[in-house]
Amino acid sequence: MQIDNIRTYTTQTILQRRPLILENRNKNIQEIFGEHVLSYNKLKRTLPEHSYKDLIDSITDHKFLSKETAEAVANAAKDWAISMGATHFTHWFQPMTDLSAEKHDAFFSFDSNKTPIAKLSAFQLMQSEPDASSFPSGGTRSTFEARGYTAWDPTSPIFLIETPNGKTLCIPSVFMSYRGEALDLKAPLIRSNLQIQKSALKLLSLLGDGQTKYIHTTVGAEQEYFLIDKAYFIAREDLTFCGRTLLGGWSPKGQEMEDHYFGAISPRVMAFMQDMEFELFRLGIPCKTRHNEVAPSQFEFAPIFEEANIAADHNQLTMEVMRKVAEKHNFAVLFHEKPFSKINGSGKHLNWSISTDSGDNLLDPSDSPQENYKFLMFLLSIIKGIAVHGGALRASIASHSNDHRLGANEAPPAIMSVFIGKRLQKVLEDIEKGVDAGKTPKELQMTIELAHLPKIKLDDCDRNRTSPFDFTGNKFEFRSVGSGQSISYPLTILNAVIADGIDYVSSRLEAALKSEKDVSAAVFKTICSIMPEVKKILFDGNNYSDEWKNEAEKRGLPILKNTIAAYSWFKKNCSFLVEGKIYTQTELDAKMHVVLERYSKATLIEGSCLIDMIKTFVLPSVEEELAARGSNISARGKNTELLIKTANELCEKVDKLEILHKKTKQLENCWEQADILSTTMLPLMDEIHALSNTIEQNTRDYLWRLPKYREMLFLR
Ligand code: ADP
Ligand code: MG
Repeated sequence: MQIDNIRTYTTQTILQRRPLILENRNKNIQEIFGEHVLSYNKLKRTLPEHSYKDLIDSITDHKFLSKETAEAVANAAKDWAISMGATHFTHWFQPMTDLSAEKHDAFFSFDSNKTPIAKLSAFQLMQSEPDASSFPSGGTRSTFEARGYTAWDPTSPIFLIETPNGKTLCIPSVFMSYRGEALDLKAPLIRSNLQIQKSALKLLSLLGDGQTKYIHTTVGAEQEYFLIDKAYFIAREDLTFCGRTLLGGWSPKGQEMEDHYFGAISPRVMAFMQDMEFELFRLGIPCKTRHNEVAPSQFEFAPIFEEANIAADHNQLTMEVMRKVAEKHNFAVLFHEKPFSKINGSGKHLNWSISTDSGDNLLDPSDSPQENYKFLMFLLSIIKGIAVHGGALRASIASHSNDHRLGANEAPPAIMSVFIGKRLQKVLEDIEKGVDAGKTPKELQMTIELAHLPKIKLDDCDRNRTSPFDFTGNKFEFRSVGSGQSISYPLTILNAVIADGIDYVSSRLEAALKSEKDVSAAVFKTICSIMPEVKKILFDGNNYSDEWKNEAEKRGLPILKNTIAAYSWFKKNCSFLVEGKIYTQTELDAKMHVVLERYSKATLIEGSCLIDMIKTFVLPSVEEELAARGSNISARGKNTELLIKTANELCEKVDKLEILHKKTKQLENCWEQADILSTTMLPLMDEIHALSNTIEQNTRDYLWRLPKYREMLFLR
């Protein structure tokens, strides 16, 4: 076949696709769950008893591991990995790229007789020194001081990654500079977990809980994504390099019929999902839900929640597995927050709660929240933390890609607020007013007038799908997180914000305990004194509405419409992270630099890509269209005039874009550069997008060579 139109070729290829059927997939879950994980249970079976105890103690008490234990673990890990068919090992870490990184070493070594042996020493398990000069460091390191160290994080289990021709042992690690600064997203997360644990234990002890020794935050990250055929992905330069479409957007149908959400999953997509779940189960990732999302070709996956540190690794791993499995099924998975204009984008809802070592969820309101002092104090702490540091939370999810999603098509707005539901808001307000809150039955029931159907148990609070941070029964859901970002960073900031809120509430409670007769009086007094300070952050209306924007402005809440605005706020208000020992000031300066630099780099890549696509696809198509109309021009009159006018305007704007791109690229100040890109270049790119769409709609089909929205979103 002669290929002169990549679009026609692509569509023909896709018509031949069939669901990929894989063998050995009908094993039961007990057999496969965690097959690729060196779990603590497996270690318990292989390690000498005292070594295992030493390992567990070092994790719970945050102590250094003895050399002897490290050696025993290294040996056990190597033996297990080799028995599973692995040949290499790697420290697996999360640099500030939102991706994971790995540098492999073979187990292979020579003994003193030059005989080949398999080896993993304690030292190799514990640390590694990749030449890491090319990872973003925000100026914390120069290329000439390239040293960066990865160090094993024993709190997250070691696992295997399988590729077609072998397996690799992955050792979850943190990544630090020669001077001990965090160069990754995990070290600050671990610090924030320790910080919130310390704060929470103090609050619990003030409330008379002397039993709880250990606190952990729990996280379940719902992952939204788009899946489109790989052929379309390759045929569109914008998808390949930017992860989103820079052109296109007209399709006779989008999501308005609401027929994709929870619809029947198509066989090819189902084959992908089943394969992905199989791989995730083997990695010990507790897959739970799968469904079609709102936009055409959009889907969601959610696991059962886990401890924060593990959930963060698991979400990272999930994205990696999804990319690989999609490839196998001839799909491309898009994690960009807004791959297509005019339809919904993707997020990652971060469900968050806090639990004690005995498994008590401190955010469970129980039957009578008004008497559940632990719940009330933690709820108040969260609200307080966000009332003060909402802008920091906003910054934690800011990126060039999420900027396109927030505030558009059913995505939470860029203004942070908290929804706790009418019932809990009333409880807090009644306490504040000194009114007896009374009992509200927890289990409400809905009766359906069809006798054979079961009675439906109602949740004790409604949801607010428009809120960026809402209480959903026994956890909060942070809905603004970007689908493509690592959850480690927003989670770190969230933990830090809440830890700060807890400290504040603890200090007030401590003071109240001195003057009040008992704990309940002190709790009520604390609520009364803090409620007036935090009310501004509580909102239960429609967060998408313009009224809310006006109202938020009146309340003095930070309205940070894009990444640059968010980080300008953050820069002035981030000292609590240094005080809480989550970041050093140097690390924060580096972090801000990395975010802005990535913002600019990504936007500049988009600019280059758009210029190229206009020149090599759109303008040639319009020339051919005009030539095809030839002497018929008069017959189509006005439409041809429109086409010529649009093409001329497009040429002018692309010239302008080229000049602006070149000039902005040379700027050295990252704040200035990002600002110009957001205020000048992105709007110009949007104008170009609109002009190109006009041309697309007025060019005969066989002369348009870029896959169209209607195909990418609907054909598979
Ligand atoms: P929905 O879309 O209605 O919010 P899902 O079932 O898709 O519900 O996702 C809910 C997520 O919240 C799951 O990942 C679930 O494990 C998680 N979750 C439930 N309870 C907790 C908790 N106590 N802490 C953290 N996450 C939780
Ligand atoms: Mg949810």
